[in-house]
Amino acid sequence: MHVNWVIVGAGFTGCTLAERIATQWNQKVLLLDRRSHVGGNAYDHYNEHGVLVHRYGPHIFHTNSRKVWEYLSQFTEWRPYYHHVLGVVDGKQIPVPFNLNSLYALFPARYAGKLEEQLLAAYGYGVKVPILKMRESENSDLRWLAGYIYENIFLHYTRKQWELDPDQLDPGVTGRVPVYISRDDRYFQDTWQSMPSEGYTALFQRMLNHKNIRVLLNTDWREIDGEIRYDRMIYTGPIDTYFQYAHGALPYRSLRFDFRTIDNEWHQNVGTVNYPNEHDFTRITEQKYLTGQTLPKSTIVVEYPQAYKLGENEPYYPVPRPDNREHYEKYLREASSLGGKVLFAGRLADYKYYNMDQAVARALKLFEDEAADR
Ligand code: FAD
Ligand code: UDP
Repeated sequence: MHVNWVIVGAGFTGCTLAERIATQWNQKVLLLDRRSHVGGNAYDHYNEHGVLVHRYGPHIFHTNSRKVWEYLSQFTEWRPYYHHVLGVVDGKQIPVPFNLNSLYALFPARYAGKLEEQLLAAYGYGVKVPILKMRESENSDLRWLAGYIYENIFLHYTRKQWELDPDQLDPGVTGRVPVYISRDDRYFQDTWQSMPSEGYTALFQRMLNHKNIRVLLNTDWREIDGEIRYDRMIYTGPIDTYFQYAHGALPYRSLRFDFRTIDNEWHQNVGTVNYPNEHDFTRITEQKYLTGQTLPKSTIVVEYPQAYKLGENEPYYPVPRPDNREHYEKYLREASSLGGKVLFAGRLADYKYYNMDQAVARALKLFEDEAADR
């Protein structure tokens, strides 16, 4: 068998590249995944109760990229959805990211009013302030507030999720959930926030429905390496695995998902409730908020962070910090030495904490760069 391209991994990265190469260059692609389905970590399916669930954790689509939005809109209709998250602090459920409503939910109105005035004077309305930055404020009241938010929202959640303190990670990690000087309770403020109307898997199936694309599931690429002739490869799995850990294993974090179906219509008041300070889990998400299904039962998913152990669980998160970046760059140098025969892209291969839209943007960029070189 001969194909122009082998693409390893059928997540957003692999599917986008397969679709582009098949439809724009009319070349043959073999897309393979070691899992039994396409979609990578964005895969969804109906469980035995008829609830559409995200097998690898809740996936909410949001982007500021018109290009990504228009590209994906070729393969799905959308259902507008604004994600809301509440965090349990001192027994109260307050909006996360921490905002002016959270302030009033936690503190007496007069005190909250005083802090609000100072926040507005220091930063202005509508501004997002990373917690690590707010802790450096010269204003002692704001430093106190930052310390409170750090301790009650970030510190223990981050220790659970990463087994590290916030300042042991790149600032961008906690910067994903900045303090928001606003009354806007949405988790994201992106221009486009929607869920694929029929789910992610249906979207992937439409992307891959082309005569030039052959999908091979339940197959690790090493099992077929040598059996298939191909011109070039795109590898979207963990980059250290490709090079057989020549520079040692890169650290990843994993999760255990506990799905529970309840006989009530609803379990909680919003899509996700975070538990920064209690329990071994970080958050509970109720699937029906995300998908818009109406059913008498409801399925929730509880996320338990775990160390990643090869062969035992999945490498869900790269661990963004400078020493890991240096470690990853050793692999990047190996990758460059392959002279373009194998290209690496995606959350695992780039070792970057991409959201779905960033994975798609990265894949589209790779395709454009290759197109420019043709
Ligand atoms: P993946 O989806 O990981 O796909 C890689 C694929 O490669 C996998 O299917 C894997 O089985 C396969 N593979 C690896 N090695 C091999 C091999 N040797 N042989 C064959 N196949 C192989 N993003 C958002 O935008 N919004 C969210 O709300 C959101 N929530 C998330 C929640 C969780 C818990 C997690 C873990 C991620 C979340 N993300 C979210 C991020 C999103 O999952 C990623 O951005 C996206 O899935 C990356 O796509 P990818 O194709 O690069 O990687
Ligand atoms: N975070 C936190 N408390 C929260 C929410 C987030 O400490 O209530 C920190 C934590 O370190 C987390 C990071 O911010 O890993 C990014 O959060 P996000 O919700 O973006 O994580 P993801 O959805 O990617 O797991």
